[in-house]
Amino acid sequence: MKWTFEAEEAIRKVPFFVRKRVRGRVENEAKAEGKPFVTLDEVKATQARFLSRMETDIKGYRIETCFGAGGCPHRANAGDRLVQMLEALLAEADLLKFLKEQVHGPLKYHHEFRIALADCPNACSQPQIRDIGIIGACIPEVTQDTCSQCASCVNACREQAIVLGAPSSELTTAWPFIRMNRCLSCGECVRVCPTGTIKEKGGGYRVLLGGKLGRHPMLARELSGIFSEDSVIDIVKDGIALYRRRSKRGERFSEIFTDGDFEEFQIEHGAKRLDV
Ligand code: SF4
Ligand code: SF4
Ligand code: SF4
Repeated sequence: MKWTFEAEEAIRKVPFFVRKRVRGRVENEAKAEGKPFVTLDEVKATQARFLSRMETDIKGYRIETCFGAGGCPHRANAGDRLVQMLEALLAEADLLKFLKEQVHGPLKYHHEFRIALADCPNACSQPQIRDIGIIGACIPEVTQDTCSQCASCVNACREQAIVLGAPSSELTTAWPFIRMNRCLSCGECVRVCPTGTIKEKGGGYRVLLGGKLGRHPMLARELSGIFSEDSVIDIVKDGIALYRRRSKRGERFSEIFTDGDFEEFQIEHGAKRLDV
C-alpha cells in the first residue's frame, strides 16, 4: 500500500519497538475503510487508538522475527518450528502475571520480555539488543567432492574465512580451507558452491543473552557455539527461570544477568554445541 511523504515521516517518529505493529495496523485500518493510500490522518487516528489500547495489548513477552520466512535469500536456517516452540514456552511461562505482580503502575511495552530471532547473521530483527537473541546458522564443511577452484566461495564469504590452494602448512591439497574462527555460519559459501565441495554440515542457532537499549544500552553476549532447536529452548527456559527468580519491579533481563550467570550458561549448555 502506498504512503504519502507526511505519513512516512510520521511513522518514522513512532518508537522503533512498536513501529512495525503500528505500521501494520495503520495499513489494515486504512484498507478496511477503503482508502487507496495512507495519509497523515490515517497515521494519527491509528496511533491514538493504538496507544489508548496499549495495556490490553501487552502479553508479557514479545517474539520478533526477521523477514526470512517471507523469502529472503540470505536465510541460513529455514526452520520455522523454533518460533512456534518459543511462542508455546513463553505463553506457558505466563510472564504477564509475573509482571503484574512485580510492576507497580501500568504495564508498558518496555516491561515485556523480548526475544528476537534472525534467520542469518545480518540480524535484521536486532537480536543483539534483546533479552534473548537467536541467529540462524548454517555450519559449512569441506567434502571430498572435487573443487573446480572457481573461487565463488571465496568471493561470497564476507568474513574472508575461506582460502584456496596451499597458502599455509594447514592446507596440503587444492581444496578450500575454512577458517572456522572467522566463520559466522551464514551459509553463503554452501549456496554458491557448484560442485558440492562445500556443503552444509548442519543447521542450528547462535544464542545471545542480555541485550537492551534504553538509558544504559547493552549488547547481548553470545554463547560459544551453535545449538539445536531443543537446546535453544533449554537455554531460553533457563533464562526465563533466572529472570523470574531475580527480576524485581520490572527489571530487564540484562540488568539481572551477571558475568557469573553467563559463565554458568556457557558451562551448562556448552556440552550440547553442534559445532564441536
Ligand atoms: S536477518 Fe538475514 S534472513 Fe532475516 S531478513 Fe535479514 S538478511 Fe534476510
Ligand atoms: S558460512 Fe562461514 S565460511 Fe561460509 S560464507 Fe559464511 S562466514 Fe564465510
Ligand atoms: S569450494 Fe566450491 S565454490 Fe569454492 S572454489 Fe571450490 S568449487 Fe568453487
